[in-house]
Amino acid sequence: KSKGKKQAKTASKAINQAAVLGAGIMGGGIAYQSAVKGTPTVMKDINQAALDLGLKEASGILQKGMARGKVSPAKMASTLTSIVPTLEYSAIEQAAIVVEAVVENPKVKQSVLAEVEQHVADDAIICSNTSTISIDLLAESLKKPQRFCGMHFFNPVHRMPLVEIIRGEKTSDDTIAAVVAYSLKMGKTPIVVNDCPGFLVNRVLFPYFAGFSQLVLDGADFTAVDKVMEKQFGWPMGPAYLLDVVGLDTADHAAGVMADGFPERMQKIDKDPVALLYQANRLGQKNGGGFYNYS
Ligand code: NAD
Repeated sequence: KSKGKKQAKTASKAINQAAVLGAGIMGGGIAYQSAVKGTPTVMKDINQAALDLGLKEASGILQKGMARGKVSPAKMASTLTSIVPTLEYSAIEQAAIVVEAVVENPKVKQSVLAEVEQHVADDAIICSNTSTISIDLLAESLKKPQRFCGMHFFNPVHRMPLVEIIRGEKTSDDTIAAVVAYSLKMGKTPIVVNDCPGFLVNRVLFPYFAGFSQLVLDGADFTAVDKVMEKQFGWPMGPAYLLDVVGLDTADHAAGVMADGFPERMQKIDKDPVALLYQANRLGQKNGGGFYNYS
């Protein structure tokens, strides 16, 4: 009974200030989404150019909204002023929640999370937007792992409704309740999942990508597979195009994580076209060419 009471108290605790670590593709998108839904959000990076790019992205999304008559000039101005770019840790001290979205490297993330914990309030919540690193492994860097969980957004953040909230072994119910409430405030659809390689979405997606790679190795034309899956099967895009959106580097890395995590089910594919494109530095839309050419 007392547990229920505690949960209700935290769930109703408003998150009035947020901070995002990393102003890249994801950090910039998370800061924008948090701010546009009314939470003033500090966006911290180690690189001024990344902060400038993060703000430019946010401004671009708002400008498109204005052109379609969906965003007023006042909303644009208030959203942009509620994203506070910074290079300093001192700016995150007031944040009730911090979402870490720096590079996908366990050592970097662990040291950033430990630094964050030194600068935030005792009851602040700390999340990681990692796609593939174990939440329990990251939690080892924190003195209070009960206040930590995964908060996995999808790209582009402002358009993708889903957020996976990943419960680590030591994550408290109060933390999960507060992150669910913050996700809803951001206009997202949260699901709570356990800590495992791929969480939910990538456990479904990567076997599909593996099936696609096998089909190509068996001689299928990837454009024909895309056409079938998109036009006839009715999915928003085919697997080759989706891999180009995700990035061949990211996809290759995640496929490795899945193969290590589920060796019986997700064996590494010899001459996987995803790995070959990555090795040829064809990373997808981010550098002008993957399965398709974009330049
Ligand atoms: P990115 O390379 O675009 O951005 C990373 C940013 O982190 C850079 O601006 C970099 O300067 C900054 N950074 C590095 N070290 C830092 C530090 N110590 N403190 C503050 N900032 C620092 O990367 P991204 O694609 O935005 O990915 C970020 C995280 O989100 C990764 O964990 C990734 O796995 C995850 N993710 C990515 C996607 C995607 O589609 N790109 C989707 C879901 C989750």
